[in-house]
Amino acid sequence: MNSAPEQPPAGIEVHPLVVRDPSRPRSTPQPPGLTGAPLAKPSVVPYIATWTTEHGASNPIRSLFGDRIAFPDERPEDRDRHGVLWRRNTAGRGEGRPVFDQVHARRQRHAMSDLLCQVCAGPASRTDAGWLWLLHDDRAIEPRGWPDLVTATHPPLCLPCARASVRMCPHLHSGFVAVRVADPQLWGVYGSVHMPTTVPGQVRTVARAMVPYGSTGARWVLAAQMVRLLLGCTFTDLDEEAAELPTATADQADSDSPGAGATLRATEREPTA
Ligand SMILES: [Zn+2]
Repeated sequence: MNSAPEQPPAGIEVHPLVVRDPSRPRSTPQPPGLTGAPLAKPSVVPYIATWTTEHGASNPIRSLFGDRIAFPDERPEDRDRHGVLWRRNTAGRGEGRPVFDQVHARRQRHAMSDLLCQVCAGPASRTDAGWLWLLHDDRAIEPRGWPDLVTATHPPLCLPCARASVRMCPHLHSGFVAVRVADPQLWGVYGSVHMPTTVPGQVRTVARAMVPYGSTGARWVLAAQMVRLLLGCTFTDLDEEAAELPTATADQADSDSPGAGATLRATEREPTA
């Protein structure tokens, strides 16, 4: 396969507002403690981070009847319920060393589909205003109304993990904003978009892009991350939220420790989407 970016194939829908490379985030920020955060030795390994023993399998990909990509030895669990093909990762969480700048596809999908905390895999914080996200503060460069309509590849957080992340990294105080999201809609995936070649059955990679579910491109993308569209966003203050909690809960939210699922006890379940 050729991974050099080219124009997407004809007929593949690429949304101009959301096709961005998560490695160059604007509206798809790096999560605290996972990528880009200046933590030399983070004390917590986020649930969605990859470990050195977890290799992305290089399965051959072929064109199926010129209609979609497929694995020759495809299994039902290789596709989500929207029919999108997902990259295979081996499972070895906790084995070897964490690779903080690489997201484990299956765990990211699990956390994003079930709205779990990206750090501890416990339930993400939810109030009447919505689920809790930490976003890179792009208010100075984004249009009025930001962050509504942001496409996020990084899952939400629980309040203890969000506060611990901010506390562990002073840079987050000025670089990130806490947002409550009333309607985080399942939108699509980020991955490698393929197109058929002149050789029957063969494909090549033409771009890395966000692709909406239900589009033509969804049949030609090998997904690596699930994407949600954030709607109904309101800014919030983590300290004020913690102060308003009942005492016992506030103690947990005020601790330096992430949420209850922050250890390797968090179970990897089958993503529901
Ligand atoms: Zn958490």
